[in-house]
Amino acid sequence: MSFHTYKPVQSFVPNYILANLSRAGVEEARLSIHQSSHSREARRSNAKETNVGDIITFAQSTRSMGAVAVKVAAARKIYDCEGKWKLRTKLVREEGDSAASDECVNQVYDFASVVREYYKNILNRDSIDNLGMDLIFNVHYGQDFMNAFWDGDEMIFGDGDGKVFVNFSSSLEVIAHELAHGVTQHTANLEYMGQSGALNEHFSDVFGSAIQQHAQGQTADNADWLIGNEIMGPELYGEALRSMKEPGTAFDNKLMGKDQQPAHMRDYYAGPEDNQGVHMNSGIMNKAFYLTAMEIGTDTAALIWYHALEKLWPTAKFNDAVSVIAESARLLTRDQKVPAGTTQNVRAAFKEVGLPQL
Ligand SMILES: [Zn+2]
Repeated sequence: MSFHTYKPVQSFVPNYILANLSRAGVEEARLSIHQSSHSREARRSNAKETNVGDIITFAQSTRSMGAVAVKVAAARKIYDCEGKWKLRTKLVREEGDSAASDECVNQVYDFASVVREYYKNILNRDSIDNLGMDLIFNVHYGQDFMNAFWDGDEMIFGDGDGKVFVNFSSSLEVIAHELAHGVTQHTANLEYMGQSGALNEHFSDVFGSAIQQHAQGQTADNADWLIGNEIMGPELYGEALRSMKEPGTAFDNKLMGKDQQPAHMRDYYAGPEDNQGVHMNSGIMNKAFYLTAMEIGTDTAALIWYHALEKLWPTAKFNDAVSVIAESARLLTRDQKVPAGTTQNVRAAFKEVGLPQL
């Protein structure tokens, strides 16, 4: 059985930043753009026997077998691509295995557990599809590949060039951001274009940041709220891809150009680049999340956003998200899952960024 749904490749470093690097003479960036656009084909030629539809069916059928089922829920499987542009080259560690000799493999294995446990314990979700779907990772993809992505079924990490970007598997936030794309795919399934695409990016930044803060014992006021700072190499050390706290301030250098993320609807990006600004306009929503988290705490804010993500739909726009998030806050307040006054905190945060737009 197989059916096909539209599953865009969602990479960590936006193409426009790689394009800036490429123009500034970073050859690995040019090759990374090229390889990203071919990753879908690479995956298909890899002769995998399942697609996402099959995995859902398998999880459901395994459940229905009850005590007979032997499948471990949300089992981790880490593959080494051995520098080839090909997925699932060699299985090097799976659930329950002792540590591998490769530190990248062990780091991904540990980070995947942190993400899985956050969904389970804080958000009451069983893996990406809420049906215990396995977590598949590929490390050492290609040569100097400057990206990490969720391809609709599994995660792929490049090693970076070691100068501009270090190994993408070394960051919990990268893994949490990309796996959140999988969660969105299995919930609201927000179309990766325009405002619904910016919401898609926004939810990945929210869970990426919330999971990292939780794991590091940080709170909203002492977290850095930067996205991608951990994978910056020595040449761009100290820069980041985005700032949720102050969108538009993450980077400003000769190689990457200048961060153009808006933090308010008055600066909304209406151009065609970046799938109509999916990594740009997410800044407006990110700022509202940051402001909310500062009032009620990051995990509480993440719980409200997650509740809303389950209720949103593929073509939802910013105004839809604002009303669904506020409604989620109201319902969770009623059920005493979040403190009284939270709904007003949420509305005030959105008001500060110019939402809803009337
Ligand atoms: Zn993303």
